[in-house]
Amino acid sequence: MKKVSIFLALFLGVALLFSGPAAADQFISIATGGTGGVYYPVGGGMAELINQHVEGVNATAEVTGASTENVRLLQAGEVELGLVQNDITFYAKTGTEMFEDEELGNLRGVAVLYPEIIQIVTLEGSGIDSVYDFADKTIAVGAPGSGTEANARQIIEAHGLTYDDMTVDYLSFAEAVDQLRDGHVDAAFLTAGIPTGALMDLAATHDPKILSIDEDVAAQIMEDFPFYTEAVIPGGTYDGLDEDVNTVTVLAMIVTSAALDSDTVYNMTAAIFDNLDYLYEIHERARDITVEAAQDGMPIELHRGAARYFDQ
Ligand code: GLU
Repeated sequence: MKKVSIFLALFLGVALLFSGPAAADQFISIATGGTGGVYYPVGGGMAELINQHVEGVNATAEVTGASTENVRLLQAGEVELGLVQNDITFYAKTGTEMFEDEELGNLRGVAVLYPEIIQIVTLEGSGIDSVYDFADKTIAVGAPGSGTEANARQIIEAHGLTYDDMTVDYLSFAEAVDQLRDGHVDAAFLTAGIPTGALMDLAATHDPKILSIDEDVAAQIMEDFPFYTEAVIPGGTYDGLDEDVNTVTVLAMIVTSAALDSDTVYNMTAAIFDNLDYLYEIHERARDITVEAAQDGMPIELHRGAARYFDQ
């Protein structure tokens, strides 16, 4: 029995060595976010397109804590593509904010995708009318390693408060919505394309109330952190949300690593951008993704393979 299995192992080893391209499939992991966000379905769609159109590549979308974690996974070579907010990409490039003293020289841009709106959500009847009311409350500030969490911290500070003034919980969008329903958290931050899945779920059972950011506070945030721009969440975006909400937004990007070769990145970029109609069916926000706008506001050096695609 033992002899047979040794023989089998040897045989399989030799077979693997000589079995050619099929066994040599290159694995491409796409770091996304939580299941209640937009990165996950859009990243899943990108993986599908890469599998359909790039030979010898096997792509999958991974659930992660989102932007900040995705930057570190890319740098470490644990993933090949990642969805990342443009503000977080910029902090990575400059070694500022959460990336102080970190060496993140591998990051390379592929494309800018769509707006990700800062949505600060509570329930009707909570008595919370603005971030100023967060003192002594329990606030969901995003998953550990999310870009959302950085936005939450900056916006809370722009209101003259800090995490020390409240109880903060590091929760994914789906967890935050569950805990809003259960009354364990009083409000939650979500930085994501609209409509965001987790908030559509919430609106199906409860009346969400999305908080506006006052004009003077928004102006201060945009001055301190230039990647924020003004945004409106139109009334009707979610069931029960009747009025427009004034807030701020950043942009989603797709980022890769300098460790990847030019042909692979070119082929993956072409697979996605030659077939955008497929992504448009996956999420309304994906309709903002276009070849024409893909380099507007790119905050880091482009990968050579992506540059070749967009320059052609
Ligand atoms: N932009 C969010 C973050 O980095 C994730 C958004 C999403 O999952 O769609 O925290």
